[in-house]
Amino acid sequence: MHIRKRILVTGGAGFIGSHLCEALLDRGYEVLCIDNFYTSARANVEHLLSNSRFELMRHDVTFPLYVEVDEIYNLACPASPIHYQRDPVQTTKTSVHGAINMLGLAKRVRAKILQASTSEVYGDPEIHPQSEEYWGNVNPIGTRACYDEGKRCAETLFFDYNRQHDLRIKVARIFNTYGPRMHPNDGRVVSNFIMQALKGAPITLYGDGSQTRSFCYVDDLVDGLIRLMESADTLIGPINLGNPVEFTIRELAQKVVALTGSTSAIEMRPLPQDDPKQRQPDITKARTHLQWKPKVPLEQGLLKTIEYFTALTPPD
Ligand code: NAD
Ligand code: UDP
Repeated sequence: MHIRKRILVTGGAGFIGSHLCEALLDRGYEVLCIDNFYTSARANVEHLLSNSRFELMRHDVTFPLYVEVDEIYNLACPASPIHYQRDPVQTTKTSVHGAINMLGLAKRVRAKILQASTSEVYGDPEIHPQSEEYWGNVNPIGTRACYDEGKRCAETLFFDYNRQHDLRIKVARIFNTYGPRMHPNDGRVVSNFIMQALKGAPITLYGDGSQTRSFCYVDDLVDGLIRLMESADTLIGPINLGNPVEFTIRELAQKVVALTGSTSAIEMRPLPQDDPKQRQPDITKARTHLQWKPKVPLEQGLLKTIEYFTALTPPD
């Protein structure tokens, strides 16, 4: 008898998590989505509730969880600076206690477990582009540290569980990802600029806008996460997943204004503390070992995201 794979997605009601749940269901798996809805809403996964292979549970990963699963994607963690800085102590607890609890669960049921790590482990990088060998440049006492150091410690825990308990682990370092179901008020640059453009409000460019980011469309990212989970057990990472095409934030602002046909003006605001000056993934490893590369160009992804936000913001 064929036993269907049962997959746990923590933070599954979030932006990336909801797309991941959808993609796993499309592949025929059973999905258990757990979330405490700290930065998301049930609405993100409401369309999945009628699927008998989908189960939604309210749970906080800082508390232990006893379920029987074959694979775990650990995504639970607020991801945007305004969300993770609102309660920084809780952010560190979510990354660290959350990792300990989910690794403990994986050890008990011998599940394979994937950690959604981040390019933030590289901090404000001194090498460019960032490859997985780079150890990073993180300020341990700055306002981004609760997130960056929490994620770094989670990586340490994953690798120690692998060495000490022979656990099957996978660590993905995700770079800036965008798309439908991003939180409209999460302060991240893509959602901010689109919402401002749609409302005709000033586009808030922090600093002089010369800092760079590389934006990956969510469908591409989810494809990379699943490829990594399903790769050989020897491929544990860390492995960068992101789109290597780099833009300045000013270029992004101009693109959003052009694509929305907005009348918004671009206004300069102070640069937040420890804001990385540049960020671009080296994805050689993902290309070589996962045969993965992003397919969706920025303009195409932005148009889909604009469509989503337009539906959220009916005209006054
Ligand atoms: P998101 O905020 O939309 O999703 C995070 C989800 O985790 C939310 O549904 C939230 O309610 C849930 N959550 C938070 N604390 C929890 C807790 N204690 N217990 C249970 N659930 C909890 O953000 P996202 O962009 O979808 O990010 C998902 C993951 O990917 C995060 O771990 C994030 O660090 C990582 N990541 C995202 C990006 C990006 O650009 N979006 C980049 C790098 C890494
Ligand atoms: N940013 C901006 N205006 C905004 C929001 C963000 O200029 O309204 C800048 C921010 O300073 C950073 C970049 O856009 O340089 C990306 O910010 P985001 O918070 O999306 O993610 P980060 O990559 O910094 O975690």
